[in-house]
Amino acid sequence: MHYGVAFAGKLREACGVCGGFADDQPMAFLTCFALYALQHRGQESAGITAGPGEGRKLWIKRGLGLVSDVFPDSADLKGIVCKLAVGHVRYPYGLEGRDPENTQPLKLRYRHGELAVAHNGKLLNALELREELECQGAIFQTDTDSELLAHMVARQGSESLEEALVEVMPRLKGAFAFVVTDGRKVIGLRDGFGFRPLSLAALEGGGYFLASETCAFDTIGATFIRDLEPGEMVVLDEEGLHSRQIIDNPSTNLCVFEYIYFARPDSNLQGRNVHLVRRELGRRLAREHPVEADIVSGVPDSSIAAASGFAEEAELPYEMALVKNRYIGRTFIKPTQKMREEGVDIKLNAVRKIVEGKRVVLVDDSIVRGTTSLKLIRIMKRAGATKVHLRISSPPVIGSCYYGIDTPDKHDLIAYKRNAEEIAAMTGADSIGFLSMAEVVASLELPKDVFCDACFSCNYPVEP
Ligand code: SF4
Repeated sequence: MHYGVAFAGKLREACGVCGGFADDQPMAFLTCFALYALQHRGQESAGITAGPGEGRKLWIKRGLGLVSDVFPDSADLKGIVCKLAVGHVRYPYGLEGRDPENTQPLKLRYRHGELAVAHNGKLLNALELREELECQGAIFQTDTDSELLAHMVARQGSESLEEALVEVMPRLKGAFAFVVTDGRKVIGLRDGFGFRPLSLAALEGGGYFLASETCAFDTIGATFIRDLEPGEMVVLDEEGLHSRQIIDNPSTNLCVFEYIYFARPDSNLQGRNVHLVRRELGRRLAREHPVEADIVSGVPDSSIAAASGFAEEAELPYEMALVKNRYIGRTFIKPTQKMREEGVDIKLNAVRKIVEGKRVVLVDDSIVRGTTSLKLIRIMKRAGATKVHLRISSPPVIGSCYYGIDTPDKHDLIAYKRNAEEIAAMTGADSIGFLSMAEVVASLELPKDVFCDACFSCNYPVEP
């Protein structure tokens, strides 16, 4: 199931990264399986680099499409001689567009040999750094932040990749998780604000593995050790695992949307299971915005956990009122808004026998533009629902994200400068209720200051 795959108007996760080092493991093969688990974080391209091969060279394969498109014969990857591998799945963001040259990992040569970089997130000062390097003669071949990091590393006089990264990291402003290799080691880096997740696991039989989400570890039989700390650099090599804090005064601002929508329900973030958090969001939503109804249903797939929590708390039957066609192409590859809107009709259908004559509570995890809600409510009413009460398991999205999540301009957000009644009228809902941030915080059982909620509050942890 593609939990991160966007219906029209959803926020989109930017990328997933992974990589590991082990003496006696089919690392390229394991990395491919980890990428399958991270597929929801990016469906535009996939890639793996592995090595070292002959002459310390890194093998690489990248391409547009799903992991299964790029690696149709994953068993072949078992034959690649390697102790280490780095993998990437990508959703294109901003400048990067959908150009095949921006697929990752990015591999290039520098004075110490080969260097491969995969990243998730967005550097806020990328343009400034790029301009600075271009003025010094650098020639860029891609629009990625990975290439920017590679250039900065290559220009350091440092003897090792670690030392170069220690020099470069404090100059990077923004949200990122990098996984980097020079064919000798794999290095994981998490930004000093802790926006994007990156976790560490031990491989069965020895070695270590890094991944954006813990669901990747389950897929390859690895045992979760811990999340990387903000500003931490973890090095995996022949000697095992080394860690170093390389950013002064780090803080934690994990993207709260990871809990609400992006991450897979079987992943754990900051020690919390995503599915259980979403169910609790639903329970609290039922208490905060009760309504007289006959059935509760969730928008597949990411809202099902919240809808089940709502139904449980409201003591109403949970029904599968909407069915998703899993074989329709991804809506976001269709270029126009109108086509994207039409995609929802093709993708989701209401079960008439369930909704006919019923007052339905429809639970969704978020509303961005509102186009999806409008279509879904029409579908439900066409199928005979007498009322559709929209319940959203997050607060209204009122600001754009500057930290690597693809969001529309704030003026295109349905909740920007509109109240609940206006949004209900625009979407055709009989009523609407958003979960308050206080209840989101209570569901997480974490202090308010350990995650970013800027698209709900416009309180940006780092000046955009
Ligand atoms: Fe996540 Fe929103 Fe913060 Fe972006 S602004 S990192 S989407 S919570």
